[in-house]
Amino acid sequence: MARPKFVLLPSRSPAAFAPLLGAAEYARVEAAARRAREQFAGRAIWNVSSTLRGGGVAEMLRSLLPYARGAWIDTRWAVLREDPAFFRLTKRLHNNLHGDLGDGGPLGDEERAAYEETLERSARHFEGLVHTDDVVFLHDPQTAGLAPHFRALGATVVWRCHIGIDEPGATALAAQDFLLPDVAAADLCVFSRRGLVWPDLDPDRCRAMAPSIDPFSPKNQELGEGTVTAILGAAGLTADDADGALFTRADGSPGRVERRAEVIEDEPIAATTKLVAQVSRWDRLKDPDGLLECLAGEPADAADVHLLLAGPDAGAVADDPEGALVWNEVCGHRRALPEAVRRRVHLVGLPMADLDENAVVVNAIQRRADVVVQKSLAEGFGLTVAEAMWKRRPVVGSRIGGIAEQIVDGESGLLVDPRDPRELAAAIRGLLGDPRRAARLGAAAHDRVRRRYLGIVRLAEYGELLGELEAARA
Ligand code: UDP
Repeated sequence: MARPKFVLLPSRSPAAFAPLLGAAEYARVEAAARRAREQFAGRAIWNVSSTLRGGGVAEMLRSLLPYARGAWIDTRWAVLREDPAFFRLTKRLHNNLHGDLGDGGPLGDEERAAYEETLERSARHFEGLVHTDDVVFLHDPQTAGLAPHFRALGATVVWRCHIGIDEPGATALAAQDFLLPDVAAADLCVFSRRGLVWPDLDPDRCRAMAPSIDPFSPKNQELGEGTVTAILGAAGLTADDADGALFTRADGSPGRVERRAEVIEDEPIAATTKLVAQVSRWDRLKDPDGLLECLAGEPADAADVHLLLAGPDAGAVADDPEGALVWNEVCGHRRALPEAVRRRVHLVGLPMADLDENAVVVNAIQRRADVVVQKSLAEGFGLTVAEAMWKRRPVVGSRIGGIAEQIVDGESGLLVDPRDPRELAAAIRGLLGDPRRAARLGAAAHDRVRRRYLGIVRLAEYGELLGELEAARA
């Protein structure tokens, strides 16, 4: 176990959002920033998470926190660096909280003792840094065990849970029980949706706040068609050798895509290929096999539809030990497909060495896709859905959890039964055959994200929430 990594955060002005939000909404943002500046003068707002790269939490913190700093609020981010045994245990917790047995291992006294011991040691690294008046946001199960320690230092602790399922069964409830002593120690718990709030928590100390995206980040910034083509070519996803794989980095400086992805395919995607894409970590809950099955069941007249599955290159995600395993599994399943199906499947491992570069390649994939899918079996929220909706893509997602909250079926995308590959195939086929409907859904999707899921609005809401919390404490 190493010392946590204290991330150097840039600062970005929230003013860029003014034209997107309109005057009234932006005035609310400015007012919240003003109040927070006064309230937190001389105090710090900490965020503690367990990974710097890959996955929704890292993505959100990376893009959101610079705007808080840009509003002159001392916002910090620390990332835990524990040993693999700890992350195996927290991955089990993660899976169990989704009702999935994961590695099938126990969550007994021994595991509890190991969890507590690890986080107690981690907490020591924050002594002298976190002060009585500070606020600490702890993200997800990996960090929940720090709550009692930060409370003991006098800080206000908010546990932000990004995962879960609506109707927890025995497996999920047992995982909640495991974490309950820590989670109950927090001043407040914030879940991504109301339906995810744990039954054994005091509802007065729980809130629901949806995640958000940053429209200016490399992940979501506007890219012209030529740039999309150039980026996909530079990353090795197409045979194009176009120049101009340029983008704007998170810190505002110019960037260029240079690293090639690991691509498993028979031949590169052509410019005319109808492309269906899913971007996700390599995780069984994202159901990559279900997507292969869906494609394999397609009739020959849909033979020109290709499927691209992209995720971080295996081994790059520190707190996700199953990633490499699932990647190998999916590669194996692809190899076993009949040739006529296999040649339409492209598996892509995206380099994570440069996170801005990784993000802009995801951006280009989402923009290139004729249809974006998210076939998860469980999803707390599903940022990839909001990202694709922002890009005006027609999205087909599973009718579950956070996906069903983001997409209004038939208005801003389509929802399908995650256990029925034929329904998914029919939805995709329908969209590919009706570009005008696809464009209409995409436009509505963009507008929905603009109204509900932009990061700056969420930051203002957090400011308001902390104000309420302090008023209640006083
Ligand atoms: N992501 C990425 N690079 C990848 C794969 C995924 O940046 O190679 C991002 C993706 O764009 C999204 C996040 O990781 O922003 C995944 O968040 P989501 O809520 O969809 O799922 P999670 O991984 O948190 O379960």
